Amino acid sequence: MNKLGVHAYVWEHGWSREQATRAISRTAEAGFDFIEASPMDPSTFDRAHTAKALEAAGIGVTFSFGLGFEADISSCDPEKEKRGRALLFEQVGLCRDCGGTSIAGILYSGFGKYYTQPTAEGIRRSADILRDVAEEAAKSDIILGLEVVNRYETNILNTAAQGVEMCQRIDAPNVKVHLDVYHMNIEESDMASAIVDAGPYIGYFHTGDSHRGYLGSGSIDLQSAFRALVRAKYEGPITFESFSSRVVGQPLEGILGIWRNLWEDGFDLATHALMYTRAQLKAAQEVERQAARSRLP
Ligand code: MN
Repeated sequence: MNKLGVHAYVWEHGWSREQATRAISRTAEAGFDFIEASPMDPSTFDRAHTAKALEAAGIGVTFSFGLGFEADISSCDPEKEKRGRALLFEQVGLCRDCGGTSIAGILYSGFGKYYTQPTAEGIRRSADILRDVAEEAAKSDIILGLEVVNRYETNILNTAAQGVEMCQRIDAPNVKVHLDVYHMNIEESDMASAIVDAGPYIGYFHTGDSHRGYLGSGSIDLQSAFRALVRAKYEGPITFESFSSRVVGQPLEGILGIWRNLWEDGFDLATHALMYTRAQLKAAQEVERQAARSRLP
C-alpha cells in the first residue's frame, strides 16, 4: 500500500516551531499518512520539536531539498563538493532524528537553471559522494530519492531513464529514482512507458499538475500516470506537491517561477488531492484485475 503525503509548502513556507506544528497538524487533519518537510535551512530546524509534533499527530515524515549552486557536488570544485557533502550528511541526520524514511529532491547537482553541459567527471564525482551518503543513510533505513526534474532545474537528470542510469552508477540499494509528473510532463516522450520502464528503481513519487495547482485541473494525463504506477507495482510513498505564490515566498518562488496564485485554501487543495489520488489508485488497481475477471466461461 502506498503511503500518501503532502508537501509542507502547501501549508507553510518555513519550518519554525509554530509553522511546523501547524503544518503537521493540518496534514494529519486532512488525512495524509505523512508530511514532506523541505527545510531551506537545516541549521534552524528543531528536530526534537518536530519529532514530538509528528508523534502527537500520528503521522510520518519524509524530507526533500535541492543543493544550492555553492554546494553543487557535480561541479568538480572541491570547496563546493565539501559543502554539498556536509549538507547531504546533515539532511541524513535530520531525517534520522525525526524518524523519517526518505530524502528526496535534487541531491546530485545544483537546483536551478544551468547554462553549461554537465560533464562526465562531474557526474562521476556526484555519484561517488552520493554513494558515501547512501551508506550513512542505510544505517537508519533511509532511502535517497534522486528527483528527475525539468531542464530548467538541473542539467543532469531530466528523464527517468537517466535517473535509472545514475542509480546504477551509484549502485547502492537505498538509492532510488524520484519521479514527478510535473517534470515528466515536460521532458518525457511517453510518461506511462517511462514509469513502467523505471519500475523497481522508483523509490519516491510526486504528483501535481501541469501548472502546479489543483490536482486534475491541469493538462497532465494523470489517469495514465497512476495506471502506469500500479502496473509498475510501485508501493512506495506518493506526495502531492503544489505551489502558490500565496505561501511559497523567496527564494523558492524565484527558482520555480511561482508567479501565479492558483489556490487560496491549502486545506481544500490538499483534501481534494488526497481524494483524487485515492480514487485514481483504486481505479488503476481495478484495471489490473480486468483481464482475470474477463475470462471466457
Ligand atoms: Mn517534485
